[in-house]
Amino acid sequence: MDTTVAQLYRIHSDTVLERAAQTIARTLARLSPDTSIPTFFRADDVGVPSQNFFALIETFARRRMVLCLAVVPAWLTRSRWEAVRRCTDPHSHLWCWHQHGWNHANHERTGKKCEFGPSRSEWDLRSDLRRGRQRLETIIGTEFSPFFTPPWNRCSSAVLDLLLQLGFHGVSRSSGEQKTPAPLPDCFINVDLHTRKEPDPASSLDNLCSEFERAIRCGHLGIMLHHQRMNDGAFTVLDGLLAVIAAEPRLQPVDFNHFIETGPSPR
Ligand SMILES: [Zn+2]
Repeated sequence: MDTTVAQLYRIHSDTVLERAAQTIARTLARLSPDTSIPTFFRADDVGVPSQNFFALIETFARRRMVLCLAVVPAWLTRSRWEAVRRCTDPHSHLWCWHQHGWNHANHERTGKKCEFGPSRSEWDLRSDLRRGRQRLETIIGTEFSPFFTPPWNRCSSAVLDLLLQLGFHGVSRSSGEQKTPAPLPDCFINVDLHTRKEPDPASSLDNLCSEFERAIRCGHLGIMLHHQRMNDGAFTVLDGLLAVIAAEPRLQPVDFNHFIETGPSPR
């Protein structure tokens, strides 16, 4: 598991938060006052409880904000789920537990990393989707939501068709993957808080702000989180962002189920 902290967090958390909050406010100010922008957070690579995972849950619970959690089926055991359960109220509507890649393995020999990519047979893809769902439904029970987040935010068109056949309600890729159209709602993410690859902190912050601006202008704000890669500064920034979003009536916190009701978001 990569625990590298992005260059962004070499900048003081107050500065990151201030710039992000200013960008959000400035972009919203150009829109109609009755604008309502669906806004969600998606935490990836869930399944192994850790100090950072519990801190993530505590942050969202304290702010009473909804969180979509992409669980890696092969990582989740009954005892790990019991540990998770001790910090997440089963009667709360804050948690949208859904499916990530079976064991988060890359199967492509060349090109970009992908677990559900073009080099695998349809039988293998279907098998991994089915056994993943069965495992999560068995352990998580009725709280499991049938949405799929493919590792590395991408999958082949065959997988999208399989998701529909297997009764999934939606997929969550990244903005830019829609060149492969999905036959089911795509709750795509378009802001990356923790896996940014810029080599220097200043360009990382500039690009983060650009992502917020583009996301708000397109009327769909999906923020991707990776708790293993968060340090204290990253938690401070996240907590501040939750407060900014909660205080802004034009940003409407939702979970993936929102997109079933309204259909795919505008690109
Ligand atoms: Zn992942």
